Amino acid sequence: MKELHVTVQRFDPEKDKEPRFVPYTVNVNDGARVLHVLHAIHDTIDATLAYRYCCSSGQCGSCAVRVNGEPVLACMAEAADGIAIAPLSLPVKKDLVVDLLPKIREIASLAPAECGTERLPVKAEIDAIKPLRECIECMACVSVCPAMDVTKFLGPTAMRQEMRLALDPRDSKNRVPDAVRDGLFTCTSCQACYKVCPKKIKIPGKAIEKLRALANKQGFTLPRHREVEALIKETGRSVVRTAPSFMEQSGFIIEPDGPVKATVGFFVGCMYNLRQQQSALDAMEVLKRNGIRVIIPRDQVCCGSPLIRTGQLDYVETLKKRNIDAFRTRRLDTVMTMCAGCGSTLKHDYVTPFKVMDINEVLTKYGIEPPAKLPLKATYHDPCHLLRGQDIKDEPRQLIRQVVDLVEMPAICCGSGGGVKSGLPEEAAALGERRREEIKKTGADLVITSCPFCEFHIASHSDKPVKNIMTVLLEGYREKDRLAQEKKE
Ligand code: SF4
Ligand code: SF4
Repeated sequence: MKELHVTVQRFDPEKDKEPRFVPYTVNVNDGARVLHVLHAIHDTIDATLAYRYCCSSGQCGSCAVRVNGEPVLACMAEAADGIAIAPLSLPVKKDLVVDLLPKIREIASLAPAECGTERLPVKAEIDAIKPLRECIECMACVSVCPAMDVTKFLGPTAMRQEMRLALDPRDSKNRVPDAVRDGLFTCTSCQACYKVCPKKIKIPGKAIEKLRALANKQGFTLPRHREVEALIKETGRSVVRTAPSFMEQSGFIIEPDGPVKATVGFFVGCMYNLRQQQSALDAMEVLKRNGIRVIIPRDQVCCGSPLIRTGQLDYVETLKKRNIDAFRTRRLDTVMTMCAGCGSTLKHDYVTPFKVMDINEVLTKYGIEPPAKLPLKATYHDPCHLLRGQDIKDEPRQLIRQVVDLVEMPAICCGSGGGVKSGLPEEAAALGERRREEIKKTGADLVITSCPFCEFHIASHSDKPVKNIMTVLLEGYREKDRLAQEKKE
C-alpha cells in the first residue's frame, strides 16, 4: 500500500459558481491506477464525487479524464503522488463527468446499400478500415482539438468515422461532401488528437489526409491549395522568391571553424530558403562553431508536405524522388532538417536511404560550446510537427536554457499548419490570437521557436519578438565574443 496526495476538480453546477481543486489523501495498492484513486476517494472520503467508469480495462472509454492537463483513461493511467485530476475540456455535468452525448450523436452511421447491391469488404478493405474502427468514443481527441475551438469543425473522431465509412463497400453514401461541410479543411495537422487517443488512431494521417485526397479527386480542394500545387509544379517550391534565397547566399559546403565532429546534408525547405533566410544563415554560423560540416545540395526541392497535408498527391512521388536523389548522390548518412514540417515529412512520409535528424537533435547529440547567458526571459513555442510529429521536446529546451531563462507555456497549435494559414487565413488568425494570450501570460520578453511556419505566423500574433533557437544561440555566441574582446582590451 502507499499513500498518495492528489487534487481533484470538483464542480456541481447546481451549487457552485466555479470549479475548484480539492486535495485528498488516499491509501492505494502499489501500481494503482487513477481510477483506483477515484474509487478510494468515493468509498472512504466523499461519496458525492461524480466520475464515470464501466469496463475498467481500457475498452469502453467512459473514464477519460485529464491528469496534469493531459487526457488519459483513468483505468489505464498509473496514479502518482501529487497528480491533479480534472474533467476533459468539454461541458461538465458534475465533477469529472462531462457531457459526451452531443459529440457521440454527431458521429455518422453506416448508410446501408440497397438490398441486393451491397458487397462485403475484401481483405484489403478490412485491413484499411481496421485502424479506424478501434474508437471507443472517449472523446479525448475532441477535447484537445484546436480547430474545434475556433471553427464549426465536427472534430477528429467524426472525420475518423467518415473515412472509416468511405472505405466500407457496404456504405452507400459519398462521405466526402459531408466531411467538407463539417470542416475537413479546418484541421491544422497538429496531431494532438492522435497523441491523446488511447487507441493510438492516427486520425490526421489515416483519416483527414485520406479524406482530403478523396476530396481532391471530387474537386473540393480549396482554391489557394490548388495555387500552391501549381507553384510547386512550376518552381519546385511552395512559396515565391521575393528576395535572394538562402541557397543563393550560402556555400555548397560549410566547413566548421574547428575539428569536424560530423557531416550532415541540409534539407533547407521552402520557408527557410525563401522567407526565413536569416534564421537558416544564423543556424549555419551555430553549426560552424560547433564542429558540424554542412553540405547543401542545390537540386533539392519542396518536401511535398503542403501537398500531402492537403490531399494533393499527384506530384508527391516526383518530389520525393528528386529529394532522395539530391542527397543520395552525395553519399550522406545523415540529412538534417530545420523546418519541423519538412523533418516530420521526411521521417514519416518518405523511405530514405539516410537518417533524418532535426537540427536540435544534431546539436544536442554532438554537444555545443556554451554561449553567454543573455539577460532575457523567453518562452518556447513547441512546433506541432516537432513536438508531436517527431517527439522532440527536451532537445530545444536543453539548448535554450544555455542562453536564456525559459518560462513554459502550454503546447498548443499556433494555427499555421495543415494548409490552414494559406487556405483558411481567418482560422489561422483566430488560433494565432489564442497563442498571443498564452504568450502574454508568461510575461516573457521573447518567444523562441524552431519552425519557420510558426516563426512567421506567431510574429504577427505576438507583442514580443519571435526568434528561431539558432538566432538566439548565435546572439549568445556574439555576446560571448564581445565579452572576451572587452576583457582583452
Ligand atoms: S490534427 Fe489537430 S486540428 Fe486536426 S483533428 Fe487532430 S487535433 Fe484537430
Ligand atoms: S478516436 Fe481515440 S481519442 Fe477519439 S474518441 Fe476515439 S478512442 Fe477516443
